[in-house]
Amino acid sequence: MAPVSDPYGLHRVISPAGALPQAAERLDADPGKRYQDELHIAVETLNVDSASMRQLEEAARGDPAEVAERIRAIVADRGKLENPVTGSGGMLLGKVAWIGARAGARHRVAVGDRVATLVSLTLTPLFLARVRRVDLGTHQVDVEGTAVVFTSGCLARLPGDLPERLALGALDVAGAAPQVLRHAAPGRAVLVLGAGGKSGLLCAAAARRRVGADGVVVGVERHPAAAQAARALGHCQAVVEADAADPVSTRDAVLAVTPPAVRAAGGFDLTVSCVNVAGAEMAAILLTRERGTIYFFSMATSFARAALGAEGVGHDVDMLIGNGYAADHAETTLELLRREPALRAELERRFS
Ligand code: NAP
Repeated sequence: MAPVSDPYGLHRVISPAGALPQAAERLDADPGKRYQDELHIAVETLNVDSASMRQLEEAARGDPAEVAERIRAIVADRGKLENPVTGSGGMLLGKVAWIGARAGARHRVAVGDRVATLVSLTLTPLFLARVRRVDLGTHQVDVEGTAVVFTSGCLARLPGDLPERLALGALDVAGAAPQVLRHAAPGRAVLVLGAGGKSGLLCAAAARRRVGADGVVVGVERHPAAAQAARALGHCQAVVEADAADPVSTRDAVLAVTPPAVRAAGGFDLTVSCVNVAGAEMAAILLTRERGTIYFFSMATSFARAALGAEGVGHDVDMLIGNGYAADHAETTLELLRREPALRAELERRFS
């Protein structure tokens, strides 16, 4: 029988002593060890977090081989793929290889099932035998290795009706759109920063479904081709090309296309930040009405910049940290893709 272990994975923490796996500096990712609170996955593909991949790509001056080497080195050093600069991870796809008794009671999958992890790579023990291929466009990295999911973790069996790479990419950002469905309301106004990215497109689609034809959905996107893709899907009545890290010009550009009733209310009811760079906090704060809500899904968000920035301009807004988990988020996000064929086709194009 496998030795007794901890449902949160404390038994895999090397340092510092007493840390939970997410906060740990180093994890023991030895695939030869097996515990009751573990499920082992033969890993095929890593879906690296957008903010992390952008940083790795910049540091490697766009060289995929150098990015592969940096990923290999981080994982060898830390026993997990936690980018030391951005602090973010991503998730992975693979096949269930072994199931411990306590993990099995929770996860209800079988050996051989194809699954995606829904907890971050920043807390997932990972051993890499080989990094086979880095795709800078999709942020997906083909590897050979073993990952460990604890009893407290979260997994999704891959759906049979969607391409695996599409499902993996959508599940990586599955925490975004369900929160829009929760926090938006019929007839209300939603602003999406980074509206042409993966999570941005999903959020805009969710927003339009929730606010309805009488509601307002506006997008901000810096990348012209991504802005065009967002426009083509038709969920936003306007997609402004602006740099969300430049708050005043973004505010002016957005207000120029915002319906008078929303301007008169002092701004948007809900703003979602889906950019993958730092510095977008103030654009969100300036464009959200008093007691409106901002959902900071972006991992590049700074708590200090958001808190001090809102205080500095005297805006009483409710700001939510982008919890990657929401009940039923995986199924809700996959269902959104099934119901939005044009969105599915756009994301499929990006992940093919
Ligand atoms: P993505 O597909 O790369 O989309 C980000 C989009 O924002 C891109 O189109 C990007 O354009 C655009 N953008 C970047 N900087 C901008 C700026 N200054 N102004 C306007 N638009 C800008 O990323 P994603 O996969 O949707 O992820 C978005 C964010 O969510 C990332 O920060 C990621 O780390 C985070 N995330 C959070 C969680 C969570 O649990 N909270 C989970 C997964 C991911 P370019 O193409 O020019 O860069």
